[in-house]
Amino acid sequence: MANRRAFEIAFVGLKPGAHEFSYGLNDKFFIEKGAEDFTNATANVKLTLEKNTGFMRLKFEIDGKAGVTCDRCGNPLQIDLWDEFKMLVKLVDDPEVMNEQEEDPDVQYISRNESHLDVSDWLYEFSMLSVPMQKSCGEDEAGESKCNKEVLAKLREMEERTIQNDNSSNTLWKGLDQFKKN
Ligand SMILES: [Zn+2]
Repeated sequence: MANRRAFEIAFVGLKPGAHEFSYGLNDKFFIEKGAEDFTNATANVKLTLEKNTGFMRLKFEIDGKAGVTCDRCGNPLQIDLWDEFKMLVKLVDDPEVMNEQEEDPDVQYISRNESHLDVSDWLYEFSMLSVPMQKSCGEDEAGESKCNKEVLAKLREMEERTIQNDNSSNTLWKGLDQFKKN
């Protein structure tokens, strides 16, 4: 991890006010952080850090792309990562206690003695949160699903077979009940 420092901001040396940072994240970064079902991801993140006395406001603007698979048919898909996240970082005497008590996930406490802020976890987390919840092939101009029809047909076939199996086991159980009653 030779480039770990690349994600550390030495905020102590910054003047009060807004500062801009930009991070180019590649596939290697995401894989090292533990991303799954995610290929060829790249993201550019613009981070604006506003330094104040005792606290900092951070704004992350995510702009990227990643390869995922369709939830319905498993086709490979290219999706856009596009979102904005805000964090409030407060400098306090007892950050551990404060972090434990804080219910707002957008507020983080660090020690007053801290001089650096490692933003790599946030860069990863926020990029992941930019992935749409539902990933599907979508529709063409005619409103037809662009999913792989063969795969969908196969899935339907398998589903029907499962339903049939369930039915037959139900009949079996009914038969057993009948037997017990007699
Ligand atoms: Zn699909």
